[in-house]
This record gives sequence, structure tokens and C-alpha cells, in this order.
Amino acid sequence: MAQNQPHILIVGGAYAGLSTLNSLITLSSGAALPTGPVSPPPPPEPFVSARGLRNKPRYTLLDERDGFYHTVGAPLGQITPSYAKEFWLSYDDIVADTYANEDVKFVHGSASSLDLEKKIIEYKTADSTVGHISYDYMVVATGMRRGAPIVPLEFDKQSFLSTVDKMSAELTRTRKVVIVGGGAVGIELAAKVKMEYPNNEVILVHSRETLINAEPLPQEYKAKALELLLITGTHVKLSQRVLKEEQIQTVDGARIQVTLSGGETIICDKVIYSAVQKGANTEFLAQGGRDEIGCIQVRDTLQFPALAPNADFHFAAGDAVSWSGVKRSGGAQNMGRICAANIVTLLRAAEDGNSNPELEICPPFQPTMSLAIGEQAMGLRGGEIRFGKEVMERAFGRGLGIEGTLKKLRLTPVAELESRRTQEKSKGAGAGVVAAHI
Ligand SMILES: Cc1cc2nc3c(=O)[nH]c(=O)nc-3n(C[C@H](O)[C@H](O)[C@H](O)COP(=O)(O)OP(=O)(O)OC[C@H]3O[C@@H](n4cnc5c(N)ncnc54)[C@H](O)[C@@H]3O)c2cc1C
Repeated sequence: MAQNQPHILIVGGAYAGLSTLNSLITLSSGAALPTGPVSPPPPPEPFVSARGLRNKPRYTLLDERDGFYHTVGAPLGQITPSYAKEFWLSYDDIVADTYANEDVKFVHGSASSLDLEKKIIEYKTADSTVGHISYDYMVVATGMRRGAPIVPLEFDKQSFLSTVDKMSAELTRTRKVVIVGGGAVGIELAAKVKMEYPNNEVILVHSRETLINAEPLPQEYKAKALELLLITGTHVKLSQRVLKEEQIQTVDGARIQVTLSGGETIICDKVIYSAVQKGANTEFLAQGGRDEIGCIQVRDTLQFPALAPNADFHFAAGDAVSWSGVKRSGGAQNMGRICAANIVTLLRAAEDGNSNPELEICPPFQPTMSLAIGEQAMGLRGGEIRFGKEVMERAFGRGLGIEGTLKKLRLTPVAELESRRTQEKSKGAGAGVVAAHI
């Protein structure tokens, strides 16, 4: 390690974390960030190239999972084994491939506490070993905690894949599935279950009069979401809460009886709760500076609240931030770019002896949302609702956006890495045969 080499720690290596890392690498080399079709559009300023850093930083990525997971595709990835395999990319592979020529280290562990004054984080590994990392700058990109089966609860790919295999086998056998919660996640999941496992009757139960009621979106948008969901063949029960769920024996074997607040009972084979957001993954931070769901109340430079110790050296990006608009992967990536721009500006200023550099500001995000509902998708552009198969193609593409996501985050698809590995192995085996002949 070079002397005076700044150390930047990123906690959470998904949309916000990897975008931060990629942007730090680009900007510290003096190059400009690529501008592309990211949504919402980034402010232009931080992406103008400036002098690179004399002391190139080293980076540590800390994540409790052993790979990046494409959460945007979760309604598909959680129920379809082939997509599950494609949506989880091992960090060891990412470091060896995307960051082969960079000073990047991956640590597999869960952040457990943080000493802002000493700038040391404590983490725990799967076998409860405790480790510590000291750093110069830190970016928290740990997102929101959600329950299974909406996102993986497993921390390693093999366990995750076997859970999805079980879910898939179950959905192949079941005949009726009740999905509880008509937010964006419940809608997308209901439509995907209906599409991927048409043997099932799918019923979405929602406690309010309109779907996606919690998001600041126009009423027409919410009504259109219902219309598109009904087209998939999903049944929708609005203004109904699930009061009770009981195992019962029927002539067809063991089933589940669900009682709704309106008095109706539904006999089904599986119940999935989709409204399982449990607050931000920020328990490792000391109290203070967080909102009621644990999101960090950063300043508009995305630095920690001014009263926190060493506030200027601590940043946050993505879903873990308390911000306007709807929490989305595009916004998370843009916040990562702004954190990176500001950290590089601060490092450059320190090299130049400039004590008052101008930092970039994260703009407020307008509420917007793209929803994939079966074969169609819908979105909001300039206040206008767009929907249809071509919106699906444009907003998501195959695998609920996996290809666009990998491109933006500079990641190589799992299949390509595997085929490279197979070729290398067969070359190695071939070399062995030649050597044996000689
Ligand atoms: C089912 C579903 C569908 C969605 N669909 C869309 C969509 O269509 N379009 C869209 O724009 N957005 C969508 N979203 C929202 C989008 O997924 C989030 O906005 C995005 O994932 C936020 O990115 P992030 O990097 O901030 O957090 P995350 O993607 O949640 O990543 C957080 C990372 O931090 C790690 N982590 C957490 N806690 C710790 C800890 N203590 N220590 C170490 N590591 C930790 C996690 O393992 C993870 O890798 C969807 C979300 C869900 C759940």
C-alpha cells in the first residue's frame, strides 16, 4: 500500500454502492463520467472531468451478501431458478473481472457498529467472527430491509438458489396463491406468478381502495396499474385485510384458509406477504440523524448531518437515504455518482491545500415509477402515463432490466464469466494433454 493512499470504504455493494465505486475510480483518474440514459437525469456538474488525484485511493467493499443482487428483478428472480442464477453475481468474480486493474478488496460481512470519531467500522462474518476496518471516507449504501420471499434473506448464492428451487417446485404444485399487499412489489409479483406459473389462480388482496396508495403518484397511474393487472388474469380484492390464515384439511388434502376483513374466506395453497419493508439497514449507526424508518438524514451534498462527528467524511447513497420522490435504482445510482464526485473533490482539495472546495448538491427527486405488470409495463414521463409492451421493452427489457443494469454497473453477465471459465479450463486440459504427449 502506497503511503498517504486514501482508503474509501463502501458499505453495501448494489446499485448505489457499485455506482459510487465505479464513479470514484473514473473521477480519481481524471476522466469524466459517462452520461447516458439514466433516470432521473443527473446534474451535469460532477461529471465534468478535472485533474486526477495524485494519490489514487484504495477501496474496500463490505457487503453481507457474497454477491450483487438485481433487486429490481426480484419479482422474477425470487420465483424462477434460471433468473435467480443470472441475477446474483459473486463479488469475487466482480473484483477479479471489473476491478482487475484497480485496488479494490471485497470483505464479506455485515456492518455491526460504527465509530464515527475514530473512523472504524465493526463487522461480523457468517461464522460470527468480528472484524474491523478503518477508513478515510465512508459511503453507506445499505438500502432497505425487506422480508422473504420478496428479496433474498440468504447471504450466499448457493443457499439463495436452493431457496428459489424450493419456491419454484412449490409454485408448480400449487393451484391458488394469495398475495397480500398491493404496492408496487405486490403488483409485480402477482403478475409474474400468474405468468410464470399459469397453473395458479392468483389473488391480490390489498387493504386500501387503490393500489400503490402509499406512493405520491397520480390517481390515474394507480387506476391504470389495476387495469393492467386485471389483464394478466390476476384477481384483485381491494379494501380487504387478511384477518386470519389457518391450515385446514380438505378432500384435496392440506390447504390454507384465509379470512378477509369483509367476511369472505379463500381456500388456497400459498400466501405471500409482499408489504414487508422493515426500515433502512442502518442499525449499525448510532442513534440520531435518521428518520422514523431509519433512513439517514444527509445534507444535500449527501454528507452525514453536520452535527455528527467527522460528518464531512461520511456519505450515504440510495434507499438508505431520507430523500424526496420514490426509492428507485436510478436515483440510487445517481446518488452514488454525487457521493463519488464530492469525495474526489475533497481529496483533490486536500492535495491542493484548498480548504473550501465547492461540492455538488443532490437535487430533489420527482416522484416517478416504472412498473412491470405481466407482459406490459407502465411509466410516467412529463406527467403523462405510458404503458404497453414497448414500454416494457424500453423501461426494462429482458429479465426485468438485468442487461441494462449490468451495463450501467460495468458488470459481466454470469453466463459470459462461466463460459470464459469453461474455455480456460478446456485450454488448461488441452495443454496438459500436449504436455503428456511431449
Ligand atoms: C421487489 C422489488 C422491485 C423493485 N422494482 C424496481 C423497479 O422496477 N425500478 C426501480 O427503479 N426500483 C425498483 N425497486 C427499488 C430498487 O430495488 C431500490 O431502489 C434499489 O435496490 C436501491 O439500491 P441500493 O443500492 O440503495 O440498495 P440495495 O439494492 O437494497 O442494496 C443494499 C446492499 O447493502 C447490503 N447490506 C445491507 N445491510 C448491510 C450491512 N449491515 N452490512 C453490509 N452490507 C449490507 C445488501 O446486502 C445489499 O447488497 C424494487 C425493489 C423491490 C424490493
